Amino acid sequence: MPFDYAPAPESRSIVDIESNYGLFIGGSFIEPTSGGFFKTINPATEEVLSEVAEAGQADVDAAVAAARRAYDKTWSKMSGKDRAKYIFRIARLIQERSRELAVLETLDNGKPIRESRDVDLPLVAAHFFYHAGWADKLEFAGYGPDPKSLGVAAQVIPWNFPLLMLAWKVAPALACGNTVVLKPAETTPLTALAFADICQQAGLPPGVVNIITGAGETGRMLVEHPDVDKVAFTGSTEVGKAIQRAVAGTKKKLTLELGGKAANIVFDDAPIDQAIEGIVNGIYFNQGHVCCAGSRLLLQESVADEALASLKRRLTTLRLGDPLDKNTDIGAINSSMQLSKIEELTASGEAEGAERWSPTCPIPDKGFWFPPTVFTNVTQAHRIAREEIFGPVLSVLTFRTPEEAVAKANNTPFGLSAGIWTEKGSRILWMANQMRAGIVWANTFNRFDPTSPFGGFKESGFGREGGVQGLGAYLNVEDPS
Ligand code: NDP
Repeated sequence: MPFDYAPAPESRSIVDIESNYGLFIGGSFIEPTSGGFFKTINPATEEVLSEVAEAGQADVDAAVAAARRAYDKTWSKMSGKDRAKYIFRIARLIQERSRELAVLETLDNGKPIRESRDVDLPLVAAHFFYHAGWADKLEFAGYGPDPKSLGVAAQVIPWNFPLLMLAWKVAPALACGNTVVLKPAETTPLTALAFADICQQAGLPPGVVNIITGAGETGRMLVEHPDVDKVAFTGSTEVGKAIQRAVAGTKKKLTLELGGKAANIVFDDAPIDQAIEGIVNGIYFNQGHVCCAGSRLLLQESVADEALASLKRRLTTLRLGDPLDKNTDIGAINSSMQLSKIEELTASGEAEGAERWSPTCPIPDKGFWFPPTVFTNVTQAHRIAREEIFGPVLSVLTFRTPEEAVAKANNTPFGLSAGIWTEKGSRILWMANQMRAGIVWANTFNRFDPTSPFGGFKESGFGREGGVQGLGAYLNVEDPS
């Protein structure tokens, strides 16, 4: 029987959202030469939050030129120790403004405040602190006695962790001595623009960080710009492939962090209650808008019925609704487009013969919502077992032996993450070795840390973000991954 909770909404008065925002180029906010603006909305209410500039070719050129000037004149000449001071200052400002940034993220993205406050923001600050620490120690990172920066980094990020993806990209780039032009996703530009304000507040030299808003076309112009030295992209595999084609034959260094279809594998000796929490965290965290989500649950046959019953019982206690309410577990789907994609794929699951289940779950009248959903009777051929749904939808398969679990887990074009639940340490090590996945969690899931490299195999992309390995992506050295 679920508990009743009184509403506990976080106040939104801590955030001042401007009615419109220009482009952050060369240290100031400027009007787009295209003259165009687009709306960004709160996906939980469909309320328009602000209008944001759409960067055209001339704006992209101006942003890259500003980044180049800042690189040549200031940032590449500055000592690592001085760069570190700026990055530390940014990290501290993020901590000071974390409540404001968490509310803004939740408003623009739809994720529960519990997550933006307790997961996204602490990790954002941690990434800047961690990389500030590296800025004056790069000669000890294992890339030779005097590793050099690359130049101007073009960075394109998605909407699922807007500020965290910015941190993953901007912090190592700056620490390694590069300047940045970053394009946030069309549906979630506001925290990147707040970050621009933080750069001003930190006194970061003009042009070291430039933020240009726009749609996919702006992203395309940015990554194809002839004067960028490095392209870093997180997003769909389809766009990642297009970027790889565009960059082929140029000298641009490229990292791609793309989709996933991770297996979360539960053996019969696993502590089932903990595993259930890990399964829930693995796929319903951030509405399943997580590239490394544990979207395929592989249950050992002998415990499948028991685990499924526990899982369903647990799902009836999840609370879907106002993302600003501190008791909310499942927030809004980020956009109507993403909702349509989830609906289309779940419909295909039913049409192909899988069995669909969701807890009784009242859906708000306005906004974009999808209840936590479980599919059983899933075969490996079903689309819901092969394609990234990027929503709160779990596909359950079963296995009998560890070998079968390995074969099923690796039977995917992706290779980003995997989870293993078992009491046996030797089995964890054996399984982890068999997984074709960049990240393998054991008896936990969706744990992130700036010291730990993150990245994929196969169609999940290449290059690593975070850790000492992630520095290599922003230095003029062989990529270690
Ligand atoms: P995209 O890959 O289209 O978007 C990611 C970023 O790339 C956004 O900033 C986007 O801009 C930009 N972009 C789009 N087209 C281009 C281009 N040709 N060149 C350069 N940049 C471009 O993902 P979507 O938002 O469309 O999501 C589609 C699907 O991708 C999801 O359903 C999900 O399955 C998957 N996805 C995976 C993510 C991951 O982390 N692995 C993250 C996001 C999505 P804009 O937003 O303005 O279009």
